[in-house]
Amino acid sequence: MSTVVVLGAGLGGTLAAYELRPKLSPNDQLVVVGQGSQYHFVPSNPWVAAGWRTRHEIEITLPEVMSRKGIGYVSKGGKRVHPGESRLELEDGSYIAYDYLVIATGPELAFDEIEGLGPDNFTQSICHVDHAERANASFNEFLKHPGPVIVGAVQGASCFGPAYEFAFILDTELRRRRMRDKVPMTFVTAEPYIGHLGLDGVGDTKGLLESELRKRHIKWITSARVTRIESAAMNIEEIGDDNIPKNAITLPFSYAMMLPAFRGVSAVRGIEGLTNARGFVIVDKKQRNPSFPNIFAVGVCVAIAPTGPTPVPVGVPKTGFMIESMVTATAENISALLNGRDPISEATWNAVCLADFGDGGVAFVAEPQIPPRNVNWSAQGKWVHYAKQAFEKYYLRKMRRGESEPFYERWIMEALGIHRLSRAPSKEVS
Ligand SMILES: Cc1cc2nc3c(=O)[nH]c(=O)nc-3n(C[C@H](O)[C@H](O)[C@H](O)COP(=O)(O)OP(=O)(O)OC[C@H]3O[C@@H](n4cnc5c(N)ncnc54)[C@H](O)[C@@H]3O)c2cc1C
Repeated sequence: MSTVVVLGAGLGGTLAAYELRPKLSPNDQLVVVGQGSQYHFVPSNPWVAAGWRTRHEIEITLPEVMSRKGIGYVSKGGKRVHPGESRLELEDGSYIAYDYLVIATGPELAFDEIEGLGPDNFTQSICHVDHAERANASFNEFLKHPGPVIVGAVQGASCFGPAYEFAFILDTELRRRRMRDKVPMTFVTAEPYIGHLGLDGVGDTKGLLESELRKRHIKWITSARVTRIESAAMNIEEIGDDNIPKNAITLPFSYAMMLPAFRGVSAVRGIEGLTNARGFVIVDKKQRNPSFPNIFAVGVCVAIAPTGPTPVPVGVPKTGFMIESMVTATAENISALLNGRDPISEATWNAVCLADFGDGGVAFVAEPQIPPRNVNWSAQGKWVHYAKQAFEKYYLRKMRRGESEPFYERWIMEALGIHRLSRAPSKEVS
């Protein structure tokens, strides 16, 4: 009998548990350790911040689903991984011993790296549903005294899509309220160009997103390093291609939402061999840590090198489909190890994304995620807005049912030529 522990019950951790359970024997124990008992669908946070969704509509109570699936659930949170002892210390000081550990803790939000950044200071966030609710309360206050808006992502950020989404959603909401004429908007980003997205662009995301910003009268500043944020002003340096500041700007705002840089969570940060300098978990192509081979990692907590140098640091986004591919590879590999086989499954890390603008949107497929690519496609239209709504409903349904990849999803994605694994037991690639 073996014990597999999944640390973190967000997108990656929950799907990892659903995918692992049928691959383990009935005698094997599977335990998920989360922080609290609710799962929230993070991609809907921009809608919560705009008042288009309530928290209740995007949450699932996990212990019920997990117990139906024969998965143990501990809600008290992990305090520290002790990889040398194969034990996880919990917040209450107790321990769980594991044979295999899957780390899926997502990011810690590094608001403290910039003075004045974050919901405890002067800017809003949509990274967590709690933040999105506060961003909505603050937006409702802002509507009483409208003024300039800044939306964007600071230096070191890796998640740019939701910043574009939120800028366009706010624009749509303000136009619906016939208040857009009272709100000058600026998009401030660490990206070297609009539509870079931490991926050096996908298809024509540069052209599509620049055109959308222009159409909606949203100005932009790229290669922006935010130096300090005050109660109603953001201090920004524009960095040139020679890495030298070329312009210092102070932008006033009445409402600002800036995505922060991410780092690894304290339960894993600073463990020699397990994590890199920023606390992200080091994995090989099998999602396995080279120093502690009974540890795997999936999702935003995984260390991935940037696509290339940029004047202001930008990270690579870890998007939903990419995370699902990490989950499938991890479940296959742990199952192989438990059955005395070599772990050979490798995730594709392809990016497939829908970015909603409230009344339209952009979709893209990057295969592989790092250029040059075999598939480098982006498109725009009203259909993306409806597709994203349908995707939310579909995803929440599969999370409630305890499914990772229903057969029809696999069938459709395979038909589109989009695969989760590049190297799998049934079709080994030499
Ligand atoms: C606002 C926003 C919108 C996004 N929209 C999209 C989108 O539309 N499409 C897309 O493909 N991607 C999107 N992403 C990117 C990505 O899909 C999500 O961030 C996704 O939630 C990441 O999954 P994860 O499992 O790595 O981390 P999370 O979903 O953040 O889950 C991590 C979990 O680990 C828990 N945890 C942390 N530390 C501990 C600990 N010590 N003990 C126990 N539990 C712990 C956390 O509480 C959390 O529940 C978006 C990201 C953001 C921030």
